[in-house]
Amino acid sequence: MTDYPQLLAPLDLGFTTLKNRVLMGSMHTGLEETRDWPRVAAFYAARARGDVGLMVTGGMAPNREGGVFPGAAGLFSDQDIANHRVVTDAVHAAGGKIAMQILHAGRYAYSPECVAPSAIKSPISPFVPKELDEAGIEKQISDMATAAERARAAGYDGVEVMGSEGYFLNQFLVTHTNKRTDRWGGSYENRMRLPLEVLKRVRGAVGEDFIVIYRLSMIDLVPDGSTFDEVVTLARAVERAGASIINTGIGWHEARIPTIATSVPRAAFTWVTKKLMGKVSIPVITSNRINHPAVAEAVLKSGAADMVSMARPFLADADFVAKAASGRAAEIAPCIACNQACLDHTFSGKISTCLVNPRAAYETELLITPAPKAKNIAVVGAGPAGLSAALTAAARGHHVTLFEADSRIGGQLNMAKEVPGKEEFRGLVEWFETMLERTGVEQKLGHRASADDLSGFDDIIIATGVVPRMPDIPGQGGANVLTYIDVLRDRAPVGARVVIIGAGGIGFDVAEYLVEGDSHPTEDLQLWLHEWGVADPELQRGGLNPQGPHPTPPARKVTLLQRKAEKPGRRLGKTTGWIHRATLKMKGVDMRGGVNYERIDEQGVHVSFGENHAEAQLIEADTVVLCTGQLSQRALADSLQAIGYKPHVIGGAEIAAELDAKRAIDQGTRLAAGL
Ligand code: NAP
Ligand code: SF4
Repeated sequence: MTDYPQLLAPLDLGFTTLKNRVLMGSMHTGLEETRDWPRVAAFYAARARGDVGLMVTGGMAPNREGGVFPGAAGLFSDQDIANHRVVTDAVHAAGGKIAMQILHAGRYAYSPECVAPSAIKSPISPFVPKELDEAGIEKQISDMATAAERARAAGYDGVEVMGSEGYFLNQFLVTHTNKRTDRWGGSYENRMRLPLEVLKRVRGAVGEDFIVIYRLSMIDLVPDGSTFDEVVTLARAVERAGASIINTGIGWHEARIPTIATSVPRAAFTWVTKKLMGKVSIPVITSNRINHPAVAEAVLKSGAADMVSMARPFLADADFVAKAASGRAAEIAPCIACNQACLDHTFSGKISTCLVNPRAAYETELLITPAPKAKNIAVVGAGPAGLSAALTAAARGHHVTLFEADSRIGGQLNMAKEVPGKEEFRGLVEWFETMLERTGVEQKLGHRASADDLSGFDDIIIATGVVPRMPDIPGQGGANVLTYIDVLRDRAPVGARVVIIGAGGIGFDVAEYLVEGDSHPTEDLQLWLHEWGVADPELQRGGLNPQGPHPTPPARKVTLLQRKAEKPGRRLGKTTGWIHRATLKMKGVDMRGGVNYERIDEQGVHVSFGENHAEAQLIEADTVVLCTGQLSQRALADSLQAIGYKPHVIGGAEIAAELDAKRAIDQGTRLAAGL
């Protein structure tokens, strides 16, 4: 008997059967562009071995002009077909199924060659697209059908035609981007002609016994987006045009509403997909912020969809489905929806991987193999660096003793999980707890390790983390001055008017914590939708509330300061920084750069601006919170070295600057993989 009967039930498509209701949604990892085909194959085969029902590749360009960027991967030659065969053969050998996504980026292409229904630049690309003429449109259709035909020749089990997220086909559907007056624009019938023509030609090219998924934007979240009537009309036409499955797209990439970030409630948009259920007879997939089998099961049980798409959770854990099916759901490494190692990498031109699982997309390079000789290893510090080192070493057969001064594991993760919008960190700490137990790591919690404790170990790993950096501001020792640790960990009382000094990741976290108060919109879907201005798409075109966001009033008046003369928050995550900035703006946080801190007293913070210390003023505050970065805590490492030990020093204890859980986990895992 399983806890997830609906999720694990097969799905019969007539000509083929999927072994369960789990789709690994498309992710652009950048792997295909490496042209290291054994590596690409290893990535997908690992997920196939983990029993996912069907996978979709990252978007493959149908032609040069449709590629997301110049040089984007696609099936352009016989050699490309042969290369992709390496991948599909590996997936099939592992018992899996894989579909290739055909992604035409239209005006989202980061290329001067980009094309679109109308010559309207998107807010997220510097290039004005060329408006296609009739021959140009025919070429795009034909290239997409050819891409599907080649996908079949390369051994794929299907294709996904990307029709959502504001890409090319989606651009034809709405007047926001389609101003044409010919047969491809104007009425809705005309605007949906292109996606339907593409689908018909794709189906014609691949035959009947091939999976064709159409990814349909169910809620555009942009002005002049589709109405829900239009969505249903399109879905029915998509079915008639030959699609085997409809997948859900949520929001255009240019939408100013978060759709997958960690502050988005779990399964936040499945209610939108549910509106389509019963309106078409082919299976419907729902998507976005589903990261646990229990959530996925509940979504299916509620009748919101026939199948569930999860993408990033398969970076965090290739064995998601196999673990869920064998009663080991607690062992699934959770995707915390941080984007730090996946989407932020993609948008920085780097290969995607995962903060929680540095092996993702590095399956052929980062090997965790049984140790040739079991050693006794001491790890000091149970933050992300120490925890990953301990788990990896134990998984390899070493005997690991983990020392932690605190009475609980987690280190800085325990502060992150207190921040509204970062609740997913709780699951990460719980996962570490489970895995320490299951891998047999001996835990010495509430035990500050000394040099004496560490004698006799074959290897010593020091992961003692960081301490807050104290700035040098007159008055910083005052009774009204706290550090972020006092606030987030020790829950010190904080007044109604607050000045935060330091606007890095932690300054932003503390600001969000202080303005939200007891409110957790991430755990209250209706509140979250209301705050961000998401409306029922049956009532409002595109699902946008015409009145915009409706933030609940802030719990405190917060001012966030930094010395750098740039916009605070500019260096936060590439794909999530805007959400943090927008959240604080909605809550009336005054964010200022270029500040000199003259002094702190009981009235607040006295500041001035610029090199000349101009515009001297007092920012009144009941409480001042210092979030001014960190320094390595390496006293133990230094004392061990002084008596001749050679400890491995990792994480913040090694380098405090720009430390985050991604670097800590990566470093801990890689070190222990080689011991
Ligand atoms: P941080 O990002 O280095 O920010 C430190 C802040 O303190 C900066 O605003 C800096 O700005 C200011 N500062 C530094 N030295 C100062 C001094 N002597 N006097 C006054 N102000 C000073 O460090 P953090 O915020 O503590 O974050 C630590 C790490 O955790 C970062 O790497 C961050 O990426 C990571 N983190 C990430 C997230 C996330 O959402 N991804 C969240 C939390 C933490 P000025 O020098 O301009 O004043
Ligand atoms: Fe999920 Fe973060 Fe890993 Fe991306 S990096 S897969 S968002 S945990």
